[in-house]
Amino acid sequence: TKKLDGNRFVIYNEALHDMVKREQFIEEALHHSVERGEFTVVYQPIVDAKTHEVYAHEALLRWQNTAYGQVAIPYIIELAEKTGDILEIGRFVLEAACRQNLNWVQQHTYDGLVSVNVSSLQFEDFNFVASVKEVLKVTGMPPERLEIEITETNAMLNVEDKISKLRELKELGIKIAVDDFGTGYSSLSYFTQFPIDTLKIDKSFVEDMMRDENALAIVSMIVNMAKTMRIKTTAEGVETKDQYNKLLSMGVDRIQGYWISKPGPPEQLTSKDHIKGVF
Ligand code: C2E
Ligand code: CA
Ligand code: CA
Ligand code: CA
Repeated sequence: TKKLDGNRFVIYNEALHDMVKREQFIEEALHHSVERGEFTVVYQPIVDAKTHEVYAHEALLRWQNTAYGQVAIPYIIELAEKTGDILEIGRFVLEAACRQNLNWVQQHTYDGLVSVNVSSLQFEDFNFVASVKEVLKVTGMPPERLEIEITETNAMLNVEDKISKLRELKELGIKIAVDDFGTGYSSLSYFTQFPIDTLKIDKSFVEDMMRDENALAIVSMIVNMAKTMRIKTTAEGVETKDQYNKLLSMGVDRIQGYWISKPGPPEQLTSKDHIKGVF
């Protein structure tokens, strides 16, 4: 009836209104979050599949706002990309991760790499390479201990600009990983031109591969292609020993996931002994 439709419309409208208001509130709150110290960084180890040595700790952002509590980070990144705040947030994570890495090295707890996620908008910013250089300078971080994780999103746009940025970073000694590999839309042929060190196989394939032959075929294809191109592979989202064994038998170089360690605050750095105990 008309009346019911009318009610539905009102309910829908209110829900939409609440959603838009919440989004606006979060955007406004995000605008001041770095200066207010509402962002923290947790770290998750990436481990060599054969030697079980920690290759890197990946920095993962967390946002704690008094009014909203913990909000999912991909949503925060999406909003921050919309407002432009991602540039300040991205710089904050990079600087925090470099300082943390230096801290660990000074305390002799860890001497591997730190890996930092870079959003595509941040990477596309004309000032990106300069801002990385500046962070290295102000922190005193050796570039060889920094890895950046970029995604395939928009990889086909401004290819020349992307290649030249990546080359410049690589010449400094920074490592380049491609995150969520296999989920993007970019053409594989571009990747032969990108100076990449590591492909991170998306966790959706790892999750599905034990029961889905197609997912298994994708993992195997990525690993074999990477070997031919002399690029390393990291499998994300490894949650079980069965998954680990399968990945090891396929020749994956490194693994990361809850089975080894969940992301944690820097004080709870996963020790080598702890990791070896898992295998
Ligand atoms: P990502 O870079 O692909 O990171 C992997 C995500 O999977 C992380 O979620 C991690 O906590 C989670 N994870 C790790 N091991 C497992 C596992 O075994 N099973 C499952 N189910 N999940 C696992 P998180 O921390 O919520 O981050 C989500 C995404 O947000 C990241 O995906 C990344 O795209 C983005 N992100 C996080 N921190 C940053 C940052 O500092 N900058 C940018 N630009 N993006 C970030
Ligand atoms: Ca990542
Ligand atoms: Ca991923
Ligand atoms: Ca992701």
